[in-house]
Amino acid sequence: MERIKVLTVKTEAHRIEVGYMVSEGLKPYFNKEVDTFFVEYSQPVGDVPAGIAVVPFVANVLPIVWLTDSVLELDEIDKSFYESIDDFKQGYIAMYPAAVFGGKVEAQHIVENGYATEGCAMFFSGGADAYSTLVEHREERPMLLSVIGADITLDDKEGILNQTRIMEKGTEDFQLPAPCLISSNFRNFIIGKTLDDLVRIYGEDWWHGFQHGIGLICLSAPIAFCKHLKTVYIASTNVKGHHATCASDGSIDNYVRFGGTQVVHAQFEMSRQQKIALIVDCCKKEGRRIKLRVCWRSKGGYNCCHCEKCYRTIFAIVAEGGDPKEYGFNMTNKDFLDAERIVKKSLYKTYGMVRDKWIEIVNKVKARNMVPDSRMDWVLSLDPFHPCGRIERKFLRITCPIRRLCRTLSKRFAFLLNRTFDFVLGTHARKHSNKFGVLLA
Ligand SMILES: [Zn+2]
Repeated sequence: MERIKVLTVKTEAHRIEVGYMVSEGLKPYFNKEVDTFFVEYSQPVGDVPAGIAVVPFVANVLPIVWLTDSVLELDEIDKSFYESIDDFKQGYIAMYPAAVFGGKVEAQHIVENGYATEGCAMFFSGGADAYSTLVEHREERPMLLSVIGADITLDDKEGILNQTRIMEKGTEDFQLPAPCLISSNFRNFIIGKTLDDLVRIYGEDWWHGFQHGIGLICLSAPIAFCKHLKTVYIASTNVKGHHATCASDGSIDNYVRFGGTQVVHAQFEMSRQQKIALIVDCCKKEGRRIKLRVCWRSKGGYNCCHCEKCYRTIFAIVAEGGDPKEYGFNMTNKDFLDAERIVKKSLYKTYGMVRDKWIEIVNKVKARNMVPDSRMDWVLSLDPFHPCGRIERKFLRITCPIRRLCRTLSKRFAFLLNRTFDFVLGTHARKHSNKFGVLLA
């Protein structure tokens, strides 16, 4: 059996580092340039015992251990987390019936780290799902946790600044306890591309299908220990009963425990439209101003107001009688003019769940008959399952594969160009190695 061995668990005031080694067969899945897994916290975590400090690392390698039938060796692990592994593994087994989830965790010491619990925390991105969870649990005054190293990379200074601002604004607006920014190389210490190849047969990529649920949640274990938290909420994206595979799912998250803390996959029963309704209702009743951040396309934490997801959220807000401008969507005239074309094209190419969300929006808008602007009234006749007419469909059927091919070719070309540069620079470095010594060796 292949092995992953935890060598060291080092805890500093705001940082946890896990040193590890992996056996030969697992090396293609781990980043050669990284030999340490780390997590940093803006709040102190210096008193965390090794069995809790190692939880973020363990959660991020467990799916590798399972799918490669490997052994994870370590000295100490938290008892509550250790005992929950088999429970949340069942969620994966049910989600991927064709996969074999083998492997095992061998710990020298399984240590009880229970505590009298109080309070809660929640992961907070500033998106509609997160704000809806915050609105529902605002009386519990959750501590907000934002993660850097997932969607926002560790070197994206503007993104980090913006995420910090978003977290602080949520904290201030809802008068919550001091938030915690969590930064980790949890996406970089492994090689996503080779792991993607490992799981391609299940129709998923590594991050979305296997890592990002428990991998993200378990980064909170040390802070949950320090604050003696009773609950850590993570907002749901999908609705219970959906048929898509996704590593962040109630059937997995709701079974994760560490120390005395229980994880809850929040609002698993609610649709996105119901969440938007909750947010708009709260803002109207309590006079709050909530700026949503939903866009995947724009950097720096703004909404581009020009992609399908932005338009979907804008219309969802309109359907609930809200003004999108008050929720962080400053649409220009061009955004209005392009909306119909972009939404129809996206719906033509998209999958079931996005269409379901648009059906809910269209039905709500129709029921309320409340499109406030004539530039939006095309949505009243939108059919999410047949978004385009015959001529548009023919046009898209021809142009979509051509554009896809162009994108692939341009990526290949960029790759070849990079390799050429590397080769030329490498040759140059070797030629001058005598002159520059170690620096260019
Ligand atoms: Zn956008």
